[in-house]
Amino acid sequence: MNPVAEYFKGIYDGVHTALIGMGITFGHLFTPAVTVQYPDVKMVMPERVRNRLYVNMDDCIGCDQCAKACPVDCITIKTIKSAPDVDLGMTSRNTKKRLYVPQFDIDIAKCCYCGLCTFPCPTECIVMTDVYEFSEYDRSNLIYSFATMTPAEIETAQIKLKKADEEATVKKAAAAAAAKLAADQKAAEGASAPAPAAKPAAPASGDKGTA
Ligand code: SF4
Ligand code: SF4
Repeated sequence: MNPVAEYFKGIYDGVHTALIGMGITFGHLFTPAVTVQYPDVKMVMPERVRNRLYVNMDDCIGCDQCAKACPVDCITIKTIKSAPDVDLGMTSRNTKKRLYVPQFDIDIAKCCYCGLCTFPCPTECIVMTDVYEFSEYDRSNLIYSFATMTPAEIETAQIKLKKADEEATVKKAAAAAAAKLAADQKAAEGASAPAPAAKPAAPASGDKGTA
């Protein structure tokens, strides 16, 4: 193609494609919009949407099932056993609480929103909510701490458990010592008892007597 024809063809192609694009845009002026003016307008989330996690600590029994199920290890749980004389109460589903949960952290920056942690929870206290606006400038703010125990409460629980453990150890040792003493006494009684009298020897089969 000669240069002049090529020049005019370029102008034609440019105008033609611009008109096609403008035609498509013009057509959309008369069709309903599918976008919303976020953040002024917010879409309603589906019922089973998986967004930010929430843990109701009143119902958490510290069983660690959720942390074990998490494929990216973003849940960190620490527990303290309650002392025998402490009643931690029941969950709303009538499960006895036996462990304090001084730490329950979820690093939501690592979370992949798979929801696997919610299924094994025996008390259904860890749930995925429809909250999707939780961006932060600092990543450390994305570690959510759900535990509600204060440092003083944690210390008290640890001290009580230590005391209970010590008392149990002392009781166990005393029971073992008493059992050993009883066994020793029984053995001593057996040793000091008189030996049973020897049985008279049976006469020999060929002995006919002296009379
Ligand atoms: S949703 Fe998935 S990745 Fe996130 S904490 Fe639960 S198990 Fe872990
Ligand atoms: S599975 Fe449920 S009850 Fe168990 S530690 Fe996780 S949140 Fe708590």
